[in-house]
Amino acid sequence: MELYNGIISDTLELLSAYTPKKLRVYENVNWEMCLSNELILSKDAAFELGGNRLPSLNYSCVTTSKCLVPKDEILLYGADLNEIKKDTAFGRIVLLNINDLNDDDRAYKAIKDLEYVKYNIIPKGYMIRASSFDKREQVRVSKEAVRKGINFETIGNVYINKLKEDELVKSACIIFITENIPKFKELNAYANKVDAITQTLNHVLNNMNLDCQSCNLKSICDEVEGMRKLHFKTIESVNRYDN
Ligand code: SF4
Repeated sequence: MELYNGIISDTLELLSAYTPKKLRVYENVNWEMCLSNELILSKDAAFELGGNRLPSLNYSCVTTSKCLVPKDEILLYGADLNEIKKDTAFGRIVLLNINDLNDDDRAYKAIKDLEYVKYNIIPKGYMIRASSFDKREQVRVSKEAVRKGINFETIGNVYINKLKEDELVKSACIIFITENIPKFKELNAYANKVDAITQTLNHVLNNMNLDCQSCNLKSICDEVEGMRKLHFKTIESVNRYDN
């Protein structure tokens, strides 16, 4: 699966202008997890990440190219949770190196499954509200969690461990941004592009109409290497099967 490689490279290139803190990666995370969504009232919140009309985004990309996501990593651009004193901008980006499935339908399903993993990650005192509509992610962090020492090392490792429960995932890079960097607008555009690629992938796997001139996804196929080829391949294999 190489369709997201361009976005992954662009993301890494864009962030290379800044120096992240590299947080420790480990398996045994010592933090209470909730089974269902926890409600943190504003009076109990220390601050909100990505709330109050501050910049906010999240997106995930998968690749089978190990060189793009060579190992598990947690990168933090900006202040950690124990340093933040007021509402702040927030970005969370997940890059995953996955096994090659050699089956595009299965790959698409795996991508959607991995996208939904985030809804099962509910650390105590860290209330996530994600919108698939506009790619925002807001997090309300409780005063109690801050008092108990919550930080992005813990949250990042929770994500990595949960994602790696899926045998498909070989390595995961979790990027947190809490600084209102000037590049937020571009990262937002990448988040929308990731969504457009996934939607186009769904289309090419299910739609047998191959008329690029009238297709409203043409701009994506023009830009994303391998997408057009995949549509041709899908139609060819369906025709072969029919005959
Ligand atoms: S290959 Fe052509 S028809 Fe298929 S999604 Fe891309 S632009 Fe549309």
